Amino acid sequence: MQQALVACHASLYAPSARPFAPSVRRVGRCKPLRPAAGLLETVLKPITSGGKALPLKDGIAKLYDESSGLWESMWGEHLHHGYYGAEEGTKSNAQAQIDMVDNVLDWAGVQSVKKVVDVGCGLGGSSRHILDRYPGSEARGITLSPVQADRANVMTREAGLGDRAAFQVADALSQPFPDGSFDLVWSLESGEHMPEKETFVRELARVALPGGRIIIVTWCHRNLAPGETALTPEEQTLLDRLCEAYYLPAWCSLADYERLFAAHGIRDVKTADWSVEVQPFWGQVIKSALTTQGVAGLLKAGWTTIKGALVMPLMARGLSMGLIKFVLITGVKAET
Ligand code: SAH
Repeated sequence: MQQALVACHASLYAPSARPFAPSVRRVGRCKPLRPAAGLLETVLKPITSGGKALPLKDGIAKLYDESSGLWESMWGEHLHHGYYGAEEGTKSNAQAQIDMVDNVLDWAGVQSVKKVVDVGCGLGGSSRHILDRYPGSEARGITLSPVQADRANVMTREAGLGDRAAFQVADALSQPFPDGSFDLVWSLESGEHMPEKETFVRELARVALPGGRIIIVTWCHRNLAPGETALTPEEQTLLDRLCEAYYLPAWCSLADYERLFAAHGIRDVKTADWSVEVQPFWGQVIKSALTTQGVAGLLKAGWTTIKGALVMPLMARGLSMGLIKFVLITGVKAET
């Protein structure tokens, strides 16, 4: 199952994938590690960037085709951070993940839902939770992973919700839905995979009904300080390792998303940073990966999944050093 990986992941980052210059730097370039780079990043460099890389969309599909079964067996139907907050240690990881969905909906003030699109739906956990929470609502979900789409449909039928939801393989940057189809447009931890953030936001706004709500919860890098034009080389090195392992293109900041929301006619914009509230998550994932079931599952799942596991400490470090931000942004599509 071991995929060959090329030394340079340049093929992942097409020129059109540069959404914002100059505040966002391209990542994944083949550049030598600087002496100041952390030991872990240095050790991981040959592992994560050796061999042949797949183009971005194929790589994302393969990553989730390969790893979703293992994740489901260990963590369940939600492939996203948990919301721990002050209750760290007193609630299960599964509850923390459900709390994440509920807290995002509460924070965004979602009172009712008729039809939601779950953009980057994973196994459809958010969609089913929304169907439960808003009686009579319907959901459509899209993912790049055929394994996830099939499994999401099966789980939804098994939950007795098959007549209210459907999941399919489709690209968030070119969605198979007419304009103005949804009163809730939901993207929970898929934005970080999108190579063109502007197209991503434009598509989210296009499929939203006028007056419909758009919610993105995603990983960003920190906002640049006034006068700063790029992250530091050490910060960039850490992100590069994550990009290679998780098939992520260029990162952007929350400020970049705010500019895009304004540019695409999304009003009443509200943002939040929940990096502290999710902080225990990666420690919990690492703990589960180090169990007998976790190690056996990783070995069985394949090399792409193993690489993902190896860089997990970098996610924890990025969050704790304030480089990686777990952020939310919401707004309403203008009526005209
Ligand atoms: N939102 C889900 C899954 C998060 S994992 C959850 O919280 O459980 C990231 C998801 O984004 C995967 O399902 C992946 O297939 C999807 N994704 C990444 N890039 C995508 C794209 N361009 N189009 C559609 N889905 C995409």
